[in-house]
Amino acid sequence: MADTHLRFISRIGSQKPESIINRQTVCPFCDRAQLDEIIDEDGTILLVKNKYPVLEDAYQTVVIETNDCDGELSVYDRSHLHRLFRFGFRHWLEMQASARYASVLFFKNHGPLSGGTIHHPHMQIVGLNRVDYRTTLQTLYFEGIPVTRTASAALNVSTQPRVGFFEFNVLLDHLAELDTMADYVQAAVHYTLNHLSRSCNSYNLFFYELPDGRFACKVTPRFVTSPLYIGYAIPQVSDRVEEVAADLQRRYFAHCKPTPSSTHPSGDGRP
Ligand SMILES: [Zn+2]
Repeated sequence: MADTHLRFISRIGSQKPESIINRQTVCPFCDRAQLDEIIDEDGTILLVKNKYPVLEDAYQTVVIETNDCDGELSVYDRSHLHRLFRFGFRHWLEMQASARYASVLFFKNHGPLSGGTIHHPHMQIVGLNRVDYRTTLQTLYFEGIPVTRTASAALNVSTQPRVGFFEFNVLLDHLAELDTMADYVQAAVHYTLNHLSRSCNSYNLFFYELPDGRFACKVTPRFVTSPLYIGYAIPQVSDRVEEVAADLQRRYFAHCKPTPSSTHPSGDGRP
């Protein structure tokens, strides 16, 4: 088995409750007595072992973000949001530093088109024994039209997305500004669910450690995946990315000073 594919264990996958699809199923993350080993906790935030470890050659953990089954990252108050990011990053980086894994994934699924099956807000931290996600990373996936930035954190809209059609990138030079990264991610998620299009109800977050030591988070709105990507791995970019960057800036960051590099035409700002 080459180190390019993860094996999915169907037997475990078929046992998993699907609470996005069937909300009558009892939520496994609300019933805290039923949870497998709790590894760490901070207030209502928990790190637990994944009860349904569907991946072979991997150590799968879940960050349960809150005890509110209908909570959502886009509306957390800032102190909870910052606490969640600090907790998640601490465990992600600790697993990475343990040197037990080829690489460690940190990601979130939300909504029916995200690939997630459980409604309760959660993220996943997964140590991969044999696959290193960093080998296929290209820095161009994180380049884009600037929306806002501080000294060491920046938000842009991808001009060369990994898949398409819109991808929001949050880049972070120093962990000291992790709270700003959390704020930018929250804004991009809120924009995705409320203003990007009439129908977008799903997104993913993907966290990366870049070769130059920076951190990145991709906020990926999810739609039905393009057949050109499925069949040919050809990514597409929307012709509205300039407009979306300007609209996101206007709605969430109008109070911020304009960035020196934001010389792009702003469009008419319609979502
Ligand atoms: Zn729940």
